[in-house]
Amino acid sequence: TASPAMVASDDKICVCVRKRSLNSKELAKLEHDAVTCLHPTATVHSAKVRVDGISKYCDHHTFKFDHAFDELSSTEDVYFYTAKPLVRYVCDGGNKGVIPRATVFAYGQTGSGKTYTMTGIQRMVAEDIFSTLSNNNIGSCYSLDNTTCSIAIFEIYGGRIQDLLNNRNRLKVLEDGKGEVIVSGLEEFQASTPQEFLSLIEQGQKNRTTHATEANDVSSRSHAICQILLRDKTNGKLRGKLSLVDLAGSERGNDTKEHNRQRRTESSEINTSLLALKECIRAIDSESKHVPYRQSKLTLILKDCFVSKAARTAMIATLSPGSNSTDHTVNTLRYADRIK
Ligand code: ADP
Ligand code: MG
Repeated sequence: TASPAMVASDDKICVCVRKRSLNSKELAKLEHDAVTCLHPTATVHSAKVRVDGISKYCDHHTFKFDHAFDELSSTEDVYFYTAKPLVRYVCDGGNKGVIPRATVFAYGQTGSGKTYTMTGIQRMVAEDIFSTLSNNNIGSCYSLDNTTCSIAIFEIYGGRIQDLLNNRNRLKVLEDGKGEVIVSGLEEFQASTPQEFLSLIEQGQKNRTTHATEANDVSSRSHAICQILLRDKTNGKLRGKLSLVDLAGSERGNDTKEHNRQRRTESSEINTSLLALKECIRAIDSESKHVPYRQSKLTLILKDCFVSKAARTAMIATLSPGSNSTDHTVNTLRYADRIK
């Protein structure tokens, strides 16, 4: 019988939501929990009012997804239904000559749990990819005997692309005559064990956060992309690619109150890239010929994930439960809802 992970892997796009618990900041502001996740739905209850001494909500919005994870769900649960099937898919070479490509996105308001979720997923991928490759010894599946695993990590911040494994080196994105998109100068580091994989991930994270404290929360204004590349051991040819993307805070897109000119430009860039991303993901499922991947650096870099027939995507929309965040939360749910 098929495991849930195998069933899920047949879908080209998987969209799920994950809600975290109220945190101490929200509790200190006397916010209440305004979100319920009851698989497969998520509901935002807004505008709590007291009528005749009884608390009531005047409005609520419910959306349905492939999975809805409540605050009691672990990152393992999220991993099992989202990234795990994609790891299997990327490691399975029996795909009639097409290179399997898969992407996992974390989308949501700053503070909703994108980095928390993606960091956990990266750790699980580290273990899973090596155990999958070690156990793959049948048929045309890739194994550690014939395949290498390497990692590249970079950030897109205000239109600049910077290598997080190589001194924040500035990178260029180029489209060659054959329509291949190349991030020129990006360093790839080979990992032979989960430990080596993890230490590269940690190095990337350190380069991201060090910078964040210097320049007022850069992490909420940048997209961080971690790519895992499987290559033929003998000729280095690409055999599979998994991208794990921690997106910039989605609230920027709606933020028109930014006074600083640079911040406004950043906000509109984030807005553009998140809108383009939604359109590109939608194009995967409809097999539309028009994929607007040139509209932003983010989507240009991820072109192969949208145009390839062998591309799969998982979107994890993270939700803050606080009653002061309901507008952002409804926007996050609408965004995720429109992808499928
Ligand atoms: P984002 O990257 O979306 O801005 P973070 O991942 O940094 O948000 O999360 C904000 C805070 O909430 C962090 O302190 C993080 O550890 C915590 N957090 C987020 N999601 C969860 C969760 N599911 N369970 C427990 N703590 C969480
Ligand atoms: Mg973050």
